[in-house]
Amino acid sequence: MRYAFISDVHSNLEAFSAVLKKIDGSAIDEIVCLGDIVGYNANPNECVEIIKTRNIKCIMGNHDSRAAGLKEPDDFNYLARDAILWTRKQLKEEYLTFLKTLPRKLYIENNKIVVVHGSVNSTDDYILSLSDVADNFRMMGEESGVNICFFGHTHVRIGYKEANANIYPFYENKIMIEDSVRYLINPGSVGQPRDGDPGASFLIYDTNVKTMEFYRVEYDREKTCEKIVRAGLHIELAERLTVGW
Ligand code: ZN
Repeated sequence: MRYAFISDVHSNLEAFSAVLKKIDGSAIDEIVCLGDIVGYNANPNECVEIIKTRNIKCIMGNHDSRAAGLKEPDDFNYLARDAILWTRKQLKEEYLTFLKTLPRKLYIENNKIVVVHGSVNSTDDYILSLSDVADNFRMMGEESGVNICFFGHTHVRIGYKEANANIYPFYENKIMIEDSVRYLINPGSVGQPRDGDPGASFLIYDTNVKTMEFYRVEYDREKTCEKIVRAGLHIELAERLTVGW
């Protein structure tokens, strides 16, 4: 199987379209989305529609749950909160329902891979520090047979390996997957990267040749920024896209 893992699209139609174009030219069997289809940017309906019509496997992110009204965005900063309240007003009824019914967790590849948004057991928690990473490898250990966890939420492309009780991050663009090693992988964000590289980020995992490769693609950022301004969303949301923060 050749999987493409995408995360944190956040209503950025131009970035999403550019990533899908690259994926469509890469002989991918299945696309898996790690949540946060909406929030921040200006095309929520279009992005949900693509996920739905292309039957992309998808879980719920923290912005999806708040846009759908399952929770109020009270714990968000003003940029995220105001964008969620705007998104809620824009979303068609059928897409609100679609977001509400997304699962929180998915198991694929004969339960060897678990797919989550924030952390192994939460939509909202972050995996940031090495101690978070250690906690999550421990939680993965409670799920028999799982040796790879894909997560999103931080918008930062990163991978961690655990072998012989040692944990270390890796930064290579392409790695070989070993059966005796466990992995926690964040493919980065499609629609709002925060790792200093403004290119839309995603990952391809080929289970036949056991390789994982991170990709960045350029997109029409100017158009996305214009739409943010025209929609009356905060200008900071456009500014951050240009620097990858
Ligand atoms: Zn997000």
